[in-house]
Amino acid sequence: MNTASHRFTIGSFQCFAISDGTSVYANPAPALFPHAPAAELEQALRAHAIDPRAWTEWVSDYTCLLVDTGDHRVLVDTGMGHHSPTTGALIPNLRALGVAPDDIDTVVLTHGHPDHIGGTLDADGRPAFPNARFVMWRSEWAHWTTPLERPPDGPMVQFMHDFALPQLLPLSERIQTIEHEADVVPGVRALAAPGHTPGHMALEIASGDDRLLVLSDTILHPIHVEHPDWNTVYELLPNQAIATRHRLLRRAAEQRALVAAFHLPFPGIGRIETTDHGWRWSPVAPPA
Ligand SMILES: [Zn+2]
Repeated sequence: MNTASHRFTIGSFQCFAISDGTSVYANPAPALFPHAPAAELEQALRAHAIDPRAWTEWVSDYTCLLVDTGDHRVLVDTGMGHHSPTTGALIPNLRALGVAPDDIDTVVLTHGHPDHIGGTLDADGRPAFPNARFVMWRSEWAHWTTPLERPPDGPMVQFMHDFALPQLLPLSERIQTIEHEADVVPGVRALAAPGHTPGHMALEIASGDDRLLVLSDTILHPIHVEHPDWNTVYELLPNQAIATRHRLLRRAAEQRALVAAFHLPFPGIGRIETTDHGWRWSPVAPPA
């Protein structure tokens, strides 16, 4: 199976879900569903053909998005890049599509976690997309570029802050921060989606009558669509994360929009179907 890139259109826009690779998360249930009642979680996992007692590894795809509007080439997130042996495929996969890093004029960073900003610089510390302006929510930029005032709550928080600062500071001259919902380029609109992180951003890609809602990390697993109240351990603002998840899933279902989600099985493109009990993730068929 070729999981390098998946092409689709939104109106007149050419879109590509592009793999940066995968990452393995050990002992995933306590990280993805720490607050889920045990019996409900077991039922949900079994419905996804996962044996709860044998689920020792979650292999997450890392899928970026390229939107070619005709006037602009917008890249959404940069993956983990060279920081992991199983990632860093984004730029080779872009080149395979005939797109050079120089061709990208806009890079949207949905949030400051390592798997989304790890590809902003190359292995030598140079900007990986030298002609791009970067766009990030203002509170998100501030969160990751401000040193921690007090000792972090745990090693994960420390790791993420240590990671973010050297990845983001070299972008200071080319970052555009936003604090209101606005068009990044015509047809690519930034939506506030706080909760996973303080300035986590979603996007609406619109051309003609077509809509693509880019959820980024509003959901990490298809089970979060069925149980939007189930946060992960990664949500920095849990109550806001739940509210954002409900709001965006309802919007996607009502608009019958296509949806892109960074961590879902490649290509991470699908729709939110309304069921008798709520919602369900309905993926597009992966490329053959
Ligand atoms: Zn992520």
